[in-house]
Amino acid sequence: MFPAFSARYASLPDRMRAEMSPTPVSSPRLLAFNRPLAEALGLNLDALDDHQLAEVLGGNLVPEGARPVATAYAGHQFGNFVPQLGDGRALLLGELTHRDGTLREVQLKGAGRTPFSRGGDGRAPLGPVLREYVVSEAMAALGVPTTRALAAVASGDSVVRQMVEPGAVLTRVATSHIRVGTFQYFAARRDTEALSLLVDFCIERHYPHLAKSAPHLAESAPQPAESTEGGRALALLDAVVERQASLIAQWKGLGFIHGVMNTDNCAISGETIDYGPCAFMDAFHPHRVFSSIDERGRYAWDNQPAIAQWNLARLAETLLPLIDDDQERAVELATASIENFAEQHDAAWTAVLRAKLGLDSQDDQSDDHDLALGEDLLKAMEEGNADFTLGFARLSAALEDGDETLAEGFERRHRLDDWLPRWRQRLQQQGVDAPTLRQRLSAANPLVIPRNHLVEKAIRAAVDDDDLSVFESLLAAVTRPHEAPSEAWLMAPPTRDERVLRTFCGT
Ligand code: AMP
Ligand code: MG
Repeated sequence: MFPAFSARYASLPDRMRAEMSPTPVSSPRLLAFNRPLAEALGLNLDALDDHQLAEVLGGNLVPEGARPVATAYAGHQFGNFVPQLGDGRALLLGELTHRDGTLREVQLKGAGRTPFSRGGDGRAPLGPVLREYVVSEAMAALGVPTTRALAAVASGDSVVRQMVEPGAVLTRVATSHIRVGTFQYFAARRDTEALSLLVDFCIERHYPHLAKSAPHLAESAPQPAESTEGGRALALLDAVVERQASLIAQWKGLGFIHGVMNTDNCAISGETIDYGPCAFMDAFHPHRVFSSIDERGRYAWDNQPAIAQWNLARLAETLLPLIDDDQERAVELATASIENFAEQHDAAWTAVLRAKLGLDSQDDQSDDHDLALGEDLLKAMEEGNADFTLGFARLSAALEDGDETLAEGFERRHRLDDWLPRWRQRLQQQGVDAPTLRQRLSAANPLVIPRNHLVEKAIRAAVDDDDLSVFESLLAAVTRPHEAPSEAWLMAPPTRDERVLRTFCGT
């Protein structure tokens, strides 16, 4: 059924992880299974039997070659450092080779207590499992780097949170689960050897182009900077800065608010990880926050770049002992790397906005102009309390059917009316034909996102009535985000009564 797992992470030194088996659940039942992803991971779909799959993905049967481990990590949660977090309810089964030739880690989330569980029960309620499943698969379909969902299995056991809820296990797939917090765990223990192993692991897994110089090079030949430990650590930092800068720009371009950008939820791979209280906003407001525990808006939509940079500065700190023996020099080098974030993010964000407006990107001269044009549309949306997703998706219609098609979604349109002629003029300048423009706009602006109220509706039906039909319709729609969905409610903003303004981790 499964191809043999490898145990790359499990073979790192003992102190980096705890080896242990999942705790069995009473009656695992497969609720959702991602066949295209399974196929890409080499699973034998013909030999798949739902019962067996549920046994494996519920944690009752450990597949061949798997050496399950809980990984150690620390993290800053809302700015406060916690020296030991770790996988308190997740077990890494091992790695499988993806069709693209690279490795993927397969992790069971909700698989029982581990040495890192602290007071927790090691389990996951069904609601958050379905939320992560649908939102992470939506992100993947939208082209955003993300962990994936392979399966959701009902455990047959109850978990006690605010209420008694059905339990579930999510099978999460990622290029790795190493976070900024993983580095922080070892830095806090002054374990330079582990840090160095992590740097090499991450370069090999995520940034192979930075790998050490070829061994056949003569010792005496000039070696690239990456061949020294300090050079590798710095190159890794630069590479993570670049990926995070681009990731956050992509989030912003979809109205996505991660909600809990703690350093333990910031992946070295540059993938979006941890879909706890995340949400896509409906009506645009730059300070939008959904997470019930984010009382001060630390992780608000427009604060995400600054927070990502703050998280990366924490990563930089952990690498200082590797970067240079002269710590002053190390700080200087790391600071320069972190400072690059702002420029890289601005460039990525300008590119995102440009694409969303259907603009050419060849011309550097127009950077500032196009950034301002994009941000002015956002201001118009804010003034008009307009839906972020539909606001962009209707740009195309505005060109064909006139301004009213777009403006009808704006409660106030003063700024929008000023903005539209500026956009038209800019489009005219670039002289792109209408079909190309239409194609560009629809490629950059999805019609369907997993709207908060729909995710909530899907969860309620599954949890309260054991009805997965809403979840399935939503999943089908959000995984084809550029197509008009089969039913209109799958893309409609919430009515006043349907609005969901608060999200909960629900862990
Ligand atoms: P998260 O909010 O999912 O990023 O989790 C923060 C930390 O709490 C991580 O170390 C998790 O493994 C741990 N954790 C979350 N929920 C549970 C649970 N139900 N049991 C044990 N540990 C948990
Ligand atoms: Mg987490």
